[in-house]
Amino acid sequence: QSTETLLEVNNIEVIYNHVILVLKGVSLRVPKGGITALLGGNGAGKTTTLKAVSNLLHSERGEVTKGSITYRGDRIQAMAPADLVKRGVIQVMEGRHCFEHLTVEENLLTGAYTRRDGKGAIGADLEMVYSYFPRLKERRRSQAGYTSGGEQQMVAIGRALMSRPEMVLLDEPSMGLAPQLVEQIFEIVKSVNENEGVTFLLAEQNTNVALRFAHYGYILESGRVVMDGPAAELRENPDVKEFYLGMS
Ligand code: ATP
Repeated sequence: QSTETLLEVNNIEVIYNHVILVLKGVSLRVPKGGITALLGGNGAGKTTTLKAVSNLLHSERGEVTKGSITYRGDRIQAMAPADLVKRGVIQVMEGRHCFEHLTVEENLLTGAYTRRDGKGAIGADLEMVYSYFPRLKERRRSQAGYTSGGEQQMVAIGRALMSRPEMVLLDEPSMGLAPQLVEQIFEIVKSVNENEGVTFLLAEQNTNVALRFAHYGYILESGRVVMDGPAAELRENPDVKEFYLGMS
């Protein structure tokens, strides 16, 4: 982790349908090379925050009405998701979203569509993705719709890596997965972070696992950051233990 800031969200408000105020002034900073976790219960505003960053709110009739979002110091608020991908920012949506009728490998290759550096480099990256997800290599000719939930989550993350991102926004990677698989997915995220230098901002309801793998955490409640700090400190914080880690 360096002190260089990639993403800076500064006091943003998000309103849905012109009236529903969902984010009430959220600020956060994502340093290059780190894993930053956005935590909080159902409906706290985690997904909304990620979608504000990747400019995916329009289709949901949501808009950022206050504050600013910068990436490497440049305002990115009006930037189309495809242009963000070119700048190195990509989102893995909640619920995985594979192309069900394509094979695992075809799904991964769709992640490289914005690239111009030719087949050789893309082939090398496919091998890079398979080295992190050996299971996907075994399943590469299978139709994605017939793979398990865990495998589809791996496909979604692997596809994002195929765009050679600098930062990945990862929404609720643990959703619907058995504890052992959640652990496995987080282990992979950690090794991609360490070995490829990819920065992660992840939204996660599973505070326990997220705080073991992240470097820094922000806790959201009803559209506001109520606490933030290094993950190791949050894990030891009595309030976090009582309200989010299920122990007192
Ligand atoms: P989850 O884990 O359930 O995704 P979250 O912390 O990611 O929770 P958001 O999905 O960001 O929370 O939702 C925050 C609030 O915004 C919730 O109260 C939700 O009902 C509301 N909300 C989300 N999407 C819309 C929408 N398209 N229109 C109106 N309200 C919405």
